[in-house]
Amino acid sequence: MRTWIKSPLAIFTNGKGHAENGIVIDGKTISEWVAAGGAPREAVDEVFDASAHVVIPGLINTHHHYYQTLTRATPCALNKELFPWLKSLYPIWAGLTDEMVHVSTQLACAELLLSGCTTSSDHHYLFTDRSANAMDAQVEAVREIGIRAVVTRGSMSVGQKNGGLPPENTVQDEDQILNDCDSVIQKYHDPMPGSMLQIALAPCSPFSVSKDLMVNVAELARIHKVKLHTHLAETRDETDYCLQKFNCRPLDYLENVNWLSSDVWLAHGIFFEDKEIHKLGGAGVGISHCPTSNMMLGSGQCRVLELQANGCAVGIGVDGSASNDCSNMMQEVRQALLLQRLQYGAARVSHQQVLSMATQGSARCLGRDDIGALAIGMQADLALFKLDDTRFCGAGDPLAALVLCGADAADCVMVAGQWKVKNQALLGVDLETLKHKHSQLAHTLQQSVNFQ
Ligand code: ZN
Repeated sequence: MRTWIKSPLAIFTNGKGHAENGIVIDGKTISEWVAAGGAPREAVDEVFDASAHVVIPGLINTHHHYYQTLTRATPCALNKELFPWLKSLYPIWAGLTDEMVHVSTQLACAELLLSGCTTSSDHHYLFTDRSANAMDAQVEAVREIGIRAVVTRGSMSVGQKNGGLPPENTVQDEDQILNDCDSVIQKYHDPMPGSMLQIALAPCSPFSVSKDLMVNVAELARIHKVKLHTHLAETRDETDYCLQKFNCRPLDYLENVNWLSSDVWLAHGIFFEDKEIHKLGGAGVGISHCPTSNMMLGSGQCRVLELQANGCAVGIGVDGSASNDCSNMMQEVRQALLLQRLQYGAARVSHQQVLSMATQGSARCLGRDDIGALAIGMQADLALFKLDDTRFCGAGDPLAALVLCGADAADCVMVAGQWKVKNQALLGVDLETLKHKHSQLAHTLQQSVNFQ
């Protein structure tokens, strides 16, 4: 099956080559660029008229907690910084079930696809007696929705009685965690180019797992050649916690547990000093920049340009939907532009830079060289936006308009050569039924805390 995405209004090829007259999709990959006035070299089966569309590579989300879509704008967690915010929500999250993980994953992935996101990574670290099979539930859900996925087997092992932040009913035994990490990788991880599902290992944060677990998980990940992910340097409270508990700053802690390496990407990465940024870049660590979450919790500003200048891959993440509180990747691109301009000035942060961050930068974080750009041979993951909404009236540069005017809904989305969204609607998913089911489960979860 060959499809010509013909004559786009604008196309984002990162300034490389000429595809003014579109691109050709052959099966699952991009096979050809068509220059201005040209036509495909060989016959095509389908012509998609993109003359009203801005075409970009599918956006790649590098950090999320899908289950948190069940606790958006929760009254007890409003207007709080990270630690008190977490402490308010842990007792609610302790009521999580496998079914809730399944349905919240479906809903978050649907929301992401509709916003132009084609690959998403979730950080699931919350396992209770009733959500022991959360990984199986997530895998089933991402397959049903059809998004390209990185599912991370997260973990928490240090509860309040051992000086950690989470309550005891949300932490697991470390041997059990390691065994499950091993089995999830063996069951689901596909390392091949074009992979639709990869597994990464992701102990939650310095204040919820032990040093031993960090070391052992890294060892296991390296045996299986899977990526490592965790939260780091998100807040000043975390730095204080590390100084007090480990007698070192978060980055020294990372180095001490053998995580200063190119197979690691970190969520947030805000509180790093110059010499630490140099170290991170030298090691090739990736950073998932989560601008909305950082603003919502008032955490701080990630030093994106210094990180990039030192060699770090910087991608974008929407973060969990209890600290965002939405999962819209296109809106997140705009938030990154605004937050970073506040820090560096308008002339140093362009719309092309933030779009690159959310595509190529994110792909690098996830260790993928087959997604994140509209290049020949890459996976055919595309997001197409129409500029026919009121907010775009009078716009000059179509690509800039996408970011500056605040696009939030893709018209069409393709994953691995298959249309998943057309006319702003998800194909093959009954969204109304899904929304209804999700609302019921969210209500059940938020009420469950009263009965524990
Ligand atoms: Zn997070």
